[in-house]
Amino acid sequence: MVDVAIIGAGPAGLSAGLYASRMGLKSVIFEKLTPGGQITLSSEIENYPGVCDVKSGLELMQCWPNQAQKFGCEIVSHEVKSITKENDIFQIALDDTLQQAKAVIVATGASPKRAGFDNEEKFLGKGISTCAVCDGFFYRNQEVAVIGGGDTALEEALYLSSIASKVYLIHRRDKFRAAPATVNRVLQNPKIEILYNSVVQEAYGEDFVEGIKVNKAGELVDLKLPGVFVFVGNTKNTQILKNGDEFICKMCDDGSVCVDLNMNTSLQGLFAVGDIRSQAKKQVVCAAADGAVAALEAVRYLDK
Ligand code: FAD
Ligand code: NAP
Repeated sequence: MVDVAIIGAGPAGLSAGLYASRMGLKSVIFEKLTPGGQITLSSEIENYPGVCDVKSGLELMQCWPNQAQKFGCEIVSHEVKSITKENDIFQIALDDTLQQAKAVIVATGASPKRAGFDNEEKFLGKGISTCAVCDGFFYRNQEVAVIGGGDTALEEALYLSSIASKVYLIHRRDKFRAAPATVNRVLQNPKIEILYNSVVQEAYGEDFVEGIKVNKAGELVDLKLPGVFVFVGNTKNTQILKNGDEFICKMCDDGSVCVDLNMNTSLQGLFAVGDIRSQAKKQVVCAAADGAVAALEAVRYLDK
């Protein structure tokens, strides 16, 4: 049995692992993919304080797993299926085994949402992508489309404009929700053409995307291009907190996990941190801070 099991090795989980193990707790992090979390999909990060010259999210996250492991935190490559609590002990279900823990920090973050146009699922990985830094290079000197109007869509449109010959930025409204500084950079970029009030209806092609049909304020526009990047927000990964139809802790109306200022959920010994918790600011620095707070609070809980 471990003192604390942490689910997810994004900024929140890795920071929790570092703090928990450095405080002397026997700690394990379960990660279903590669450690690093969502930010490893980002082509740039310029707002992590004190780190001024990293080029990408992948580069920022490179040393975080080692830093946690240095103090004894174990990182296990495994998906967690569910969590239950019996007699003050948490049971963490992996595929075919159970891991026991005295406290659990859930740091499962969020996953990209689909835009909902026809053939989106069919062409995922065949012309439709949710990661510019992974797939952008396939479209070098070709035209691509980016869907969305938030920080992710605009930042990734800027990144793609340095690789593609042209970027169509397709937004369903006439106002972006991205930060003003990012919007200004997009507006000044000659390689980005913005289609406001526009919704993609379908992607078409044989085996790979050959184009998309867009409803632009009532007019049908056919864009012949091989690459479409979908950045329309994300969904919180809270499934593992479900026991049948019920959640094991209190959930907030927006689908996030309700926590107090110390990251306590309504179930004693269970903490939620990062993008899945209530009122999350969805920033790497905030997720990392949450992880540290939860680990310190876990120490207090276990002392009791
Ligand atoms: P995540 O980073 O989502 O990590 C969660 C981890 O849990 C993942 O590794 C996932 O695989 C794992 N996991 C999920 N379910 C399970 C399970 N059942 N079992 C085991 N493991 C599981 N923020 C900034 O501050 N600056 C930026 O410039 C910035 N740019 C961004 C660009 C992009 C393209 C995106 C998508 C986000 C960006 N963000 C940025 C937001 C930032 O990435 C997130 O706020 C942050 O990563 C949240 O960290 P987290 O640890 O809560 O979750
Ligand atoms: P987001 O802020 O939720 O924006 C999603 C965008 O997609 C919105 O413009 C939305 O349109 C649009 N959209 C949603 N569903 C759609 C659909 N079905 N079809 C077409 N368009 C759709 O998501 P995000 O940009 O991924 O950002 C997520 C969080 O991470 C935010 O809090 C953001 O600030 C943060 N983040 C920060 C940075 C940074 O600090 N540099 C970088 C990236 C992300 P509407 O505007 O009409 O709703």
